[in-house]
Amino acid sequence: MPDYDAIIIGTGQSGPALARRLVAAGWTVAIVERKLFGGTCVNTGCTPTKALVASAYAANHARRAAEYGVMIDSDIKVDMKAVKARKDAIVSPSRNGVERSLKKLEGCTVYEGHARFIAENKIVVNGSELSADRIFLNVGARAAIPSIPGLDQIPYLTNSSMMDVDFLPAHLIILGGSYIGLEFAQMYRRFGSEVTVIELAPRLIAREDEDVSQTIANFLEDEGIDVRVNSRVVGVEKQGNAVGVNIQSEGKMSQVIGTHVLIAVGRRPNTDDLGLDKAGIATDARGYIQVDDQLRTNIPGIWALGDCNGKGAFTHTSWNDYEIVAANLLENDERRVSERIAAYALYTDPPLGRAGMTEAEVRKSGKPALIATIEMGNVSRAFEKGETKGFMKILVDQDSKQVLGASCLGLTGDEVVHCILDLMYAKAPYTVMQRAMHIHPTVSEFIPTMLGNLKPLQ
Ligand SMILES: Cc1cc2nc3c(=O)[nH]c(=O)nc-3n(C[C@H](O)[C@H](O)[C@H](O)COP(=O)(O)OP(=O)(O)OC[C@H]3O[C@@H](n4cnc5c(N)ncnc54)[C@H](O)[C@@H]3O)c2cc1C
Repeated sequence: MPDYDAIIIGTGQSGPALARRLVAAGWTVAIVERKLFGGTCVNTGCTPTKALVASAYAANHARRAAEYGVMIDSDIKVDMKAVKARKDAIVSPSRNGVERSLKKLEGCTVYEGHARFIAENKIVVNGSELSADRIFLNVGARAAIPSIPGLDQIPYLTNSSMMDVDFLPAHLIILGGSYIGLEFAQMYRRFGSEVTVIELAPRLIAREDEDVSQTIANFLEDEGIDVRVNSRVVGVEKQGNAVGVNIQSEGKMSQVIGTHVLIAVGRRPNTDDLGLDKAGIATDARGYIQVDDQLRTNIPGIWALGDCNGKGAFTHTSWNDYEIVAANLLENDERRVSERIAAYALYTDPPLGRAGMTEAEVRKSGKPALIATIEMGNVSRAFEKGETKGFMKILVDQDSKQVLGASCLGLTGDEVVHCILDLMYAKAPYTVMQRAMHIHPTVSEFIPTMLGNLKPLQ
């Protein structure tokens, strides 16, 4: 007899929710966590970074106060110890809440330690063997560390160790100009650091459209961030208390000297020390666990959810994975990953909200399409608030009239994009929203206006 009906490894975004659902359905469940309850989002990802972004926003707005007629008669100072304490006070209740709720969940046994497979239906934790016919992997991912000569000789930072920083780095050099790197870049610049971003690709967040990348690069540079694209880091070296980062760019060598280095060049799944070979679980070349459209691995009775399956890298994709697995197992509802629409945000200020295809993807698809854009300077709400950077863009399928995608880079872009996303899920023609009466003055009121101004994508 197996020890449990189910074992869940990892307490990220899908594991705890799945444990609650399985227990409610009468299953006995063991859940294993090796480090911090709540995983990345709660401890070293979304929650702490957005708390820090909020402090940085306050600092920036305080510096801009005179633009609003508000006079502050002293220099704006950022107390990094207080910034970190505020962040910690937001993170701790979330982490403790996950831990407490799992530990008092009847039918669920919590194990604290590193889990490894020793057979298809068996794992070992702290020397104890546990078995179950169904095993769910929610082991997440961690910062990928590139092999750069000299990197092992310097004390670099990652998104995890950044959480302990309670001082102001004089000059932060960030390797990686994508989502995670850019949030830290703007935040630390606003706290008062010199910041250099070094990106290998020809532009920042290269997955986005060129106009989106360029607008973001512009507003970061306007704030004084040194953005270096097309730049390969070929070595790092200690120089007294400083760090030298050697860059090769368009055939030329140069060096940036800073005080701290943050590595933000991507993520790698936590699958290398999980004993996957003992269970015969297949991964791809980068270590992501291969799953089908319902998140089943190649081994019957084993599922992989969240970042470790490579089907998403967000809290909402991990949560959606839990919903898909629970619906299939408990509700006789054959939900699938392929039913979801790509959606995410970048939390710079202003933020980028994204749904569906980019303009480049639409062009590549060859679909006849319509496009509408609006500069945030023409959005009254943004104008009134003095936050006019960015633009919004919507793409529509010319034949079906359904929305193909949107990029909302501007004030509340992370929120505004949801009205477009919901229209996409409804598979409704854009004319439905074009006729909707939105509230004035909001950013969202311009979505119907934009849909009235669609033009053929040339
Ligand atoms: C800096 C940063 C900012 C981010 N911001 C956002 C954002 O704003 N919005 C957003 O949607 N996403 C954001 N993300 C991504 C988001 O945090 C993750 O996609 C999300 O946390 C989903 O993670 P998960 O459920 O796959 O697992 P995780 O949350 O990574 O949890 C996995 C858990 O498994 C445990 N574990 C791993 N291996 C074992 C083992 N062998 N035995 C026992 N336990 C194990 C780990 O300790 C961990 O607690 C951000 C990420 C970072 C790094």
